[in-house]
Amino acid sequence: MKIGISSCLLGTQCRYDGGHSKDGFIINELGKYFDFIPYCPEKMIFATPREAIRQTRKDGIIKVKTSTTNLDVTQKVNDISKKLADEIQESELCGFIFKSKSPTCGMERVKIYPENKSGQSENTGVGIFAKEVKDKYPLLPSEEEGRLHDAWLRENFLMQIFAYKHIFEFLNTKPSLNDLITFHTSYKYLIYAKSHEAYKELGNIVANHEKKDTNIILEEYKHSFLNAIYQKGTISNTYNVVLHIYGYFKKLITKEEKDELLESFEDYKNEIIPLIAVIKLLNLYTKRFDITYLKTQKFLNPYPKELALRSSILAYK
Ligand code: SF4
Repeated sequence: MKIGISSCLLGTQCRYDGGHSKDGFIINELGKYFDFIPYCPEKMIFATPREAIRQTRKDGIIKVKTSTTNLDVTQKVNDISKKLADEIQESELCGFIFKSKSPTCGMERVKIYPENKSGQSENTGVGIFAKEVKDKYPLLPSEEEGRLHDAWLRENFLMQIFAYKHIFEFLNTKPSLNDLITFHTSYKYLIYAKSHEAYKELGNIVANHEKKDTNIILEEYKHSFLNAIYQKGTISNTYNVVLHIYGYFKKLITKEEKDELLESFEDYKNEIIPLIAVIKLLNLYTKRFDITYLKTQKFLNPYPKELALRSSILAYK
């Protein structure tokens, strides 16, 4: 599984000062599951070490300039960013991790300085390369390394990457409408935890009331699915999902077991225990009563459990 990444996050000494921005979580944890494809636009056009660059604004026009000599390098940075963004398509990436705050790679809150060097800088910019990638691939899962230290954003990003990879693999098998129904069914509760509206929209596409051609349906489904997995799950939606799942076996278990389960749901809702504790119990009953429908649900197993993302109380909001 390939993920694009700003090179300096892997420890490559490509920063302007000859240093790197190595990120332990990315290398040690995510590195077990993903192949990283490194990108460093600045290194490709300037030597390392080099003079730092920064974004400036005058009369609403953003430029990229060297920070001491004030040389305008906008065209160079734009050109290399476009070229690298074009190459991403061929690399079949499932996501991208950008270096925060960089005038080239930052996804948001990049500093923009006033052209005349007097006045206040603002943190409202977007890195030139990051913008190019986002404009070209708006539904490619992407995050900054800093935001991945937030358990909730990390959980959503990882879930999105695995689902992103899955739908493209699925579409490559040239599926029938029946295959699509099976695929869609397996994502029912995962999508439901993100957005009820998105689940309804996907259901309508699969139902194909207008009897459209399969290829058109698959294309419509892909687009809506990518939009759906882009959304972030919430505690209240997730709580509703666990109640739905509980409905499959509530009549098959004892009062004590029911009480224990419902208490764990409440504890999850009140942020006392992490989601993984609830999922463990739901998986246990799913196996015990051999409920095939639940066994296929991605919500119960969205990615390798060793990633342990749902072990944090902070992984849901
Ligand atoms: S932030 Fe981007 S351009 Fe800057 S050193 Fe890292 S990879 Fe290169």
